[in-house]
Amino acid sequence: MNDLLPGEIEVWQFVESTARTLFGRFGYGEVRTPMVEDTALFVRSVGEETDIVGKEMYTFEDKGGRSLSLRPEGTAPAARAYIEHSVSNQEPVSRWFYMGPMFRYERMKTGRYRQFSQIGAEAYGAKEPAQDAELMDVVVQFLEALGLKDVTLNINSLGDDNCRPAYHAKLVEYLNAHREELCADCQQRLERNPLRVLDCKNEKCQAVAAAGPNVLEFLCAPCRAHFTDLQRKLGVLGIRYVVNHRLVRGLDYYTRTVFEFIASHPALGTASTVGGGGRYDKMMKGLGGPDVPAVGYAMGLDRLVLLLKEGGKTFTQRPDLFIAVADEGSQDEGLALASRLRREGLKVDFDTRGGSLKSQMKRADKSGARFTLVLGEQERTSGQAKLKPMAGGEPVPVALDNVAATVRAQPEAPAPVPAA
Ligand code: AMP
Repeated sequence: MNDLLPGEIEVWQFVESTARTLFGRFGYGEVRTPMVEDTALFVRSVGEETDIVGKEMYTFEDKGGRSLSLRPEGTAPAARAYIEHSVSNQEPVSRWFYMGPMFRYERMKTGRYRQFSQIGAEAYGAKEPAQDAELMDVVVQFLEALGLKDVTLNINSLGDDNCRPAYHAKLVEYLNAHREELCADCQQRLERNPLRVLDCKNEKCQAVAAAGPNVLEFLCAPCRAHFTDLQRKLGVLGIRYVVNHRLVRGLDYYTRTVFEFIASHPALGTASTVGGGGRYDKMMKGLGGPDVPAVGYAMGLDRLVLLLKEGGKTFTQRPDLFIAVADEGSQDEGLALASRLRREGLKVDFDTRGGSLKSQMKRADKSGARFTLVLGEQERTSGQAKLKPMAGGEPVPVALDNVAATVRAQPEAPAPVPAA
């Protein structure tokens, strides 16, 4: 679990605000649910045999003896809220997004934490492939807006209750025949959740999986039509994708479409999946709600941030102006001037400790401010001062009652290099 301090948080805020903008354009409204839910919600939706529920949840008993869990993901809580508030009675289609912390007791690695943040979205009420495609489009446009390239969309279809059992049976038969070649974990998975063998990272298991039955060959006609139409729609949207028949994802609730966005960047090591999701048409009903189809996805913010940091862009907004005071008598006016300019919309830095002009100028350098204005007795009496460009260049004369407009009128110079 990590602390995020000023200096680091700005990149997070950039990702979050970009997400809000994109979701707004696509008509997704924000939903906020509690961090804790009844443990049973996750057992019933995510699935008892998954790693998340079986091994990774922070589960505890509250004072009333109820079993609660810190949420390990956002889809089940959103579905719970959707059912609890009878949203399907109010509108046929709902589009929601969420962002916030999730908790999983995972082994620590780069890009894998026990408290991590996800940005996710869910679209309820539309079973059509166009909805799957639209959801992928939000993610594609979001990644574009962040400036992240080298992320590949992988898609697959897991079929439905009609066609998946035949595939499942064939897979189990095949894996049993290759049992000895699988890692110890996969030998257990084979008993409890054979699909999970397909996304084991062990090379030998991957080789076994690659030569195994292909889920797409088992799809029934409606599932095949859905998958074909989805690909056509992605083509219409100009979204590039790869069909990956081994993509299964680690949660039990998916039907038909599943997808993942995979980044090829060394910074992420093996944690290269930045986000993924799929269709879960049966979950609402399974949780005792209405028979409403849904498709959703979640992206890991922590991993997006790692990628952006690698890009070397800075996200901290530097001050427009640093106000330094030349003498103690100007301290109050400096404080008041800073306050007034902030009200007028400038980002202003001011050393509340006062001190020597030299030490304030050092601080001004370090702040990365565009300009410094020194306020002394002379400036106060004449009402005239100078804006010193910190990147070098001629000082700009300025009337003290016209500072904000003058700063705004100056052409943007490259950021000064802050002193070490
Ligand atoms: P999932 O809910 O497992 O499908 O995960 C969706 C996305 O959340 C992943 O692609 C990751 O980007 C992110 N994620 C999942 N687990 C973690 C974790 N323990 N630490 C950081 N990010 C995670």
